[in-house]
Amino acid sequence: MTRVYNFSAGPAVLPEPVLHRAAEEMLDWHGSGMAVMEMSHRGKEFIAIQAQAEADLRELLAIPRNYKVLFLQGGAAGQFAVVPMNLLRGKSKADYVNTGYWSKKAISEAKRYCKVSIAASSEDANFTYAPKQDNWKLDPEAAYVHFISNETIGGVEFHWIPDTGGVPLVADMSSHILSRPLDVGRYGLIYAGAQKNVGPAGLTIVIVREDLIGQALPFTPSVFDYKVQAEADSMHNTPPTFAVYVAGLVFQWLKQLGGLKQMEQINIAKARLVYDYLDQTEFYHSPVVKQDRSRMNIPFRLRNDQLDEEFLKQAKSHGLTQLKGHRSVGGMRASLYNAMPMEGVKALVGFMGEFERKHG
Ligand SMILES: *Cc1c(COP(=O)(O)O)cnc(C)c1O
Repeated sequence: MTRVYNFSAGPAVLPEPVLHRAAEEMLDWHGSGMAVMEMSHRGKEFIAIQAQAEADLRELLAIPRNYKVLFLQGGAAGQFAVVPMNLLRGKSKADYVNTGYWSKKAISEAKRYCKVSIAASSEDANFTYAPKQDNWKLDPEAAYVHFISNETIGGVEFHWIPDTGGVPLVADMSSHILSRPLDVGRYGLIYAGAQKNVGPAGLTIVIVREDLIGQALPFTPSVFDYKVQAEADSMHNTPPTFAVYVAGLVFQWLKQLGGLKQMEQINIAKARLVYDYLDQTEFYHSPVVKQDRSRMNIPFRLRNDQLDEEFLKQAKSHGLTQLKGHRSVGGMRASLYNAMPMEGVKALVGFMGEFERKHG
């Protein structure tokens, strides 16, 4: 068996100990005689698996008691619609920050349900920075303020929490949740698709302050009504059982590592290795302003884009895969999620140096 270093933006690399554990338990989970995939979601085994996953997630993120944790389906893109359906609460408008590809998707979906105001945007510089708080135009009457705290494609990360006064702050954290400690109490709602930094595709995590739920628009499907799902422990319908189980193993892996403070230190070190290299060469180039660079998703370009294909081909032959940038921006992108080991990052930077010496 040969494992590659997989730099995919998602679905993405998972911790090897988690994959081993899932493999060991695949045919017979804890003497149940069944795979987790084969269990009733209402049986005591799976109820225990999901309860443990929630408890571990609450511990890792220090989620306050007045927040509900929901394990849903439909992806982060589903939440682009589900958030306005649930959080408008009799209001007719919401503020959105536009920092790139995923912001635009969220905005166009929200426009089907309410009046959207763009509170801030980085479009003027091709989405290469996070708009400073001073430049946000917030409407105190807005139902909520929405932003993408890590733009997976542009590689822009907010390293600070916006202040929205009394208006609930909503964040799509799909590509950096669990990469660092989080002050959940500053947010009204946090959501994330699991397949970037948490686990397999199919699971969407929602963390929502209790007082914001219970006023969904009348046409909201019950499975997407936060209140209905909160009251049913996310089992109003069948949850994505296997994805919840694997995410739970990832939570345990993070706890064993020492939690999110520890994870953050590792992530800082990994990202620094790549950015330091990018900043001392003319051969490659990082488009994102320094203070807003993502630790998780690092887009970069070869100054000579004629070499792009050769770069990807040779990278692959070195066991470094999925480095092609998103089709909307081109170039390269290395995603360094929690599960990407330091050795993988060193192998990448080593290869980049070798390629530069050969072609620079
Ligand atoms: C990947 C991604 C999405 C879309 O997630 P789906 O699970 O495909 O719906 C939304 N937002 C961000 C920030 C993402 O990285």
